[in-house]
Amino acid sequence: MKRLSILGATGSIGTQTFDIIGTHPEEFSVVALSFGENIERALPYIHQYRPKLVSVKNDRIKERLRPLVPSSVKILAGIEGLIEVATHPDSDMLINAVLGSIGLEPTLAAIEAGKMIGLANKETLVTAGHLVMERVKEKGVTLLPIDSEHSAIFQSMQGQDKKAISRLIITASGGSFRDLSRDELKNVSVEDALKHPNWSMGAKITVDSATLMNKGLEVIEAHWLFNIPYEKIDTIIHKESIVHSLVEYHDKSVIAQLGVPSMHVPIQYALSYPKRLELPQEKRLNLWELGALHFEKVDTERFKCLDFAYQAGKLGGSTPAVLNAANEQAVDHFLNKRISFLQIEDLVERALNEHQMVSNPTLEDIKEIDIRTRQQVNDWVKSYV
Ligand code: NDP
Ligand code: MG
Repeated sequence: MKRLSILGATGSIGTQTFDIIGTHPEEFSVVALSFGENIERALPYIHQYRPKLVSVKNDRIKERLRPLVPSSVKILAGIEGLIEVATHPDSDMLINAVLGSIGLEPTLAAIEAGKMIGLANKETLVTAGHLVMERVKEKGVTLLPIDSEHSAIFQSMQGQDKKAISRLIITASGGSFRDLSRDELKNVSVEDALKHPNWSMGAKITVDSATLMNKGLEVIEAHWLFNIPYEKIDTIIHKESIVHSLVEYHDKSVIAQLGVPSMHVPIQYALSYPKRLELPQEKRLNLWELGALHFEKVDTERFKCLDFAYQAGKLGGSTPAVLNAANEQAVDHFLNKRISFLQIEDLVERALNEHQMVSNPTLEDIKEIDIRTRQQVNDWVKSYV
């Protein structure tokens, strides 16, 4: 039985993690979990799995939750709570599915505590890949990807000669606005952005898919996870989201992982690795039903964010942390209808241009840069209206 700590239990990845746990109750238990504000969604999990520790976003939510759960459940709040959940002494593995750069410190703490980690929170590696991978190596912990593309790459590397890898090819659905021109992107709405053609995900990552920033963050994530230079990481539009990513080897053999677009597969693979557990028939891929799969070059003129991410990744140091903070803040403003879709990339570009890079940032540097960048973006947005 693997004992789990789950950050972001009420989110898209969090609830799908519970789906997997629910179908394999003999394999997994939950000792600690965190969520933000969604008490209604969290309560059934707390009652069913009886975690010893629950952490929430702030003291207000903590007070509301207290009378609703057994007194034996310890309740914490804020970043301290996230760290305690991530490092709970009774847990074997952390599933980090919280949203945003707040996920970084709990990941680092879990590494120090020697926990196995299933990582959905891509912001961890985007903001501080150098710190995270150094500690992973030193502590000898297992860090498993949950992001579907990285799970596909990881699966396509099993049993292979890693020194013979010549290229990673990350597939992108193209998001909600795949077929729109630059001109048509000017007036798209939040509601349109949230209609992803293939995947059902949280709001922020759905917008990131539409700007292709999600692909950019994934390129940086892949660079750190697999220790591959940016020159050897390609992206390609694949509108069906069936081929989840590919690995090319020196002999030009290409190995890919395929499946229906469902996060259940990569979540379960991280949970059960190296074992493979059963998933129901409805998850079966019937290629004959699809008939054809399509692949296209990415147009980075139309979607600038992917290019910004490559540039930020190659510059390194504190630049990817700025890219991420500016994007998180800009997407939040877009979701709250304060800015237009194309202003997201304007704000990210402006933040990158104004940043004085710190070449080997510490955790403290990254936290400070994150706060400062968000503040800058907020000031610029105020000046827009
Ligand atoms: P959601 O927005 O659906 O869920 C986010 C979770 O984090 C919720 O449980 C939310 O709580 C919690 N949360 C948010 N802010 C805070 C905070 N300040 N303190 C504590 N908890 C907080 O996100 P997703 O599940 O879509 O994404 C989670 C991560 O996984 C992201 O990093 C994303 O990039 C990555 N990912 C997601 C994929 C997907 O298919 N969704 C695919 C690949 C990667 P509450 O709602 O209760 O407030
Ligand atoms: Mg992905």
